[in-house]
Amino acid sequence: MNLEKLSATLEKEPKYRYQQVNKFLFQDYISSWQEASSLPQVLREKLAKECPLEIKSEVKINLKQKGNQKALISLADGALIETVLISQKSGKKENKEARYTVCVSTQVGCPMACTFCASGLKGFTRNLSFGEMIEQVVFWNRALKGIGKVDNVVFMGMGEPFLNYQEFIKAVKFMNNPETMNIGARRLSVSTAGIISGIKRLAGEKIQINLAISLHAPTDSLRQKLMPVAGKNKIEDILRAVDNYIKKTGRRVMFEYVLIKAENDSEQNALTLAKLMAKPLYLVNLIPYNETGRYRASQPETIKKFKEILESKGVATTVRLSFGAEIEAACGQLKNRRAHK
Ligand code: SAH
Repeated sequence: MNLEKLSATLEKEPKYRYQQVNKFLFQDYISSWQEASSLPQVLREKLAKECPLEIKSEVKINLKQKGNQKALISLADGALIETVLISQKSGKKENKEARYTVCVSTQVGCPMACTFCASGLKGFTRNLSFGEMIEQVVFWNRALKGIGKVDNVVFMGMGEPFLNYQEFIKAVKFMNNPETMNIGARRLSVSTAGIISGIKRLAGEKIQINLAISLHAPTDSLRQKLMPVAGKNKIEDILRAVDNYIKKTGRRVMFEYVLIKAENDSEQNALTLAKLMAKPLYLVNLIPYNETGRYRASQPETIKKFKEILESKGVATTVRLSFGAEIEAACGQLKNRRAHK
């Protein structure tokens, strides 16, 4: 799919064609132009030639299987990205309706080099275009046809969204647009390793999505060890930008903290973190570590204790259900294990 080329191809067509095409692509989720029944045959053929709808995916998906799934999409230049579908059942037992969340990648690889993260260790290839971000959601919506549709999007796949800000925000606005995907702003979330310029820019946007900050350590020295690139931004400066964001938007901000055994999970770490986080609109989300290499995950008792300490100091704390551990879907694990299909 090439959204830029699509606009160019439709340029000489009457305006209402855009609406028709948007509906076919982003509401009906057609996968061939032949399905676009109300378009003239000549235009369908032209579009089929110039803007093929095929999304090259290497993974067979089977939505009858319960739980989460991932797909490897190969882009026009051969670059590979992974995108994950997380299904959650909600509601009463007899009336279980699934909610679907897509975890979107924003870059091929990642320049942040976080030592606990598999994408970080593999280096950076290139930024994704906004169309390549949209494509990941379109891919899952096509797969869900007749079953459901994507309810939430989290920009938490491979890459650092705020180092690709322009394309990222374009994708957000596109997903939110009622004429295209119509996903509510409250159902869109972004996670950053703490890129201050991005936090500032997001605070100035008209569209307010959910913001999460990957903190992972309560001191600069420990943070720099775990996050050698992102750790160069001082925690104090990140929190100042977050406080400004909260002042401007009135929105809650989530701080992610991956618990890694004997690295950042001590009682002292919890106490130091509590001092930083005891603010009204701060929320700490503790993430059980998905083991990808040199570190080990904290014990469940350690996680429990860590949470108790934070809560005893008045910090709002949740523990992330380890969605995706079984399909190796933590950000850092994407793309690494291609043999695992
Ligand atoms: N670059 C952005 C977004 C991608 S990562 C960021 O750093 O926030 C999304 C989240 O997954 C981050 O909080 C990241 O630190 C975390 N993560 C990375 N590798 C992980 C792993 N192996 N186990 C658990 N969480 C991981």
